[in-house]
Amino acid sequence: MKILLTGGAGYVGSACLRLLKQSGHQVVAFDNLVEGHPAAVDGAELVVGDIRDTQLLEKTLRDYDIEAVMHFAAATNVGESVVNPAYHYDNNIGGTLSLLNAMVAVGVKKILFSSTCATYGLNPVSPMAEDAAQDPCSPYARTKLAVEWMIRDFAHTYGMGFTILRYFNAAGASADGRFGEYHHPETHLIPLVLQDILNGPKALKVFGNDYPTVDGTCIRDYVHIDDLASAHLLAMEAIEDNTQEVYNIGTGNGQSVLDIIKACELVSGHQVVYTVVERRPGDAPELVADPRKLQSRLGWKPKYPKIEDTVRTAWMWHKICPQGYGEK
Ligand code: UDP
Repeated sequence: MKILLTGGAGYVGSACLRLLKQSGHQVVAFDNLVEGHPAAVDGAELVVGDIRDTQLLEKTLRDYDIEAVMHFAAATNVGESVVNPAYHYDNNIGGTLSLLNAMVAVGVKKILFSSTCATYGLNPVSPMAEDAAQDPCSPYARTKLAVEWMIRDFAHTYGMGFTILRYFNAAGASADGRFGEYHHPETHLIPLVLQDILNGPKALKVFGNDYPTVDGTCIRDYVHIDDLASAHLLAMEAIEDNTQEVYNIGTGNGQSVLDIIKACELVSGHQVVYTVVERRPGDAPELVADPRKLQSRLGWKPKYPKIEDTVRTAWMWHKICPQGYGEK
């Protein structure tokens, strides 16, 4: 299939792009390179542009004869979304509206959307199935939920097929350590802990230890980036013109912030120094996936069910590429 990946040079988008390409699909990344890195697309076609540029999107869809879109491009920093909601609403909602308009104009009728477990937010159910109530607790998560509805409405009116993938926490790096997570500035837990180990302690912070969880720190379900990519491949190959599906992508296992610190210590052989500070606004106490629908309907099986194995790949990436992709 000929597939356009918005945000295809980002952490998750590029992992999916590389797997789709290896599996024989023709892929084009469309990325403004604010968060993405040209090196991450590993020689695949890359169009540099902003998804709010509807004309450039239309041209790209036509030029490459695109049959389906995977939509990753978004502003994703939860903390920043609280400080600057306009940026997130503009990029995520305005950007998706532009994309859907371009798809309608050109007649592209299949879309996979990167949504998030953060749309479940304060729902206390654990593990979370796809039909659980969505209760987002940050502007970022609310933009993702709004986009889910936008896609449903466009699909209904224009006869599109869609699959919404709500992922839990993407983590880890490619098995050869060549492709991994690199944000600037970095805000995610696993890279921050591993960078702290590699570069010497820089005051790692644990955001709150008074949550209603086993050790008081937030619990998340960290899913390896290659397992996330294989779920996208399976969902893409199953999508039809009338598909209307939602899948959670996670391992089904929860780890607290302190569990992650322990896993990083185990894998690296170094002790981690941290201080506990205030809760970070917008954080939900616990988000763990129920992946049974993904497993039974699409036959998904994670290659990295254990957190230590996921962290080991991230550790290798940070050791091999301490400056990430290096261009920022
Ligand atoms: N976290 C933390 N210290 C940090 C970064 C993250 O304690 O410096 C916590 C954060 O509060 C959350 C978990 O680690 O409970 C995972 O955060 P991350 O930003 O990696 O992913 P998110 O769950 O926000 O998508």
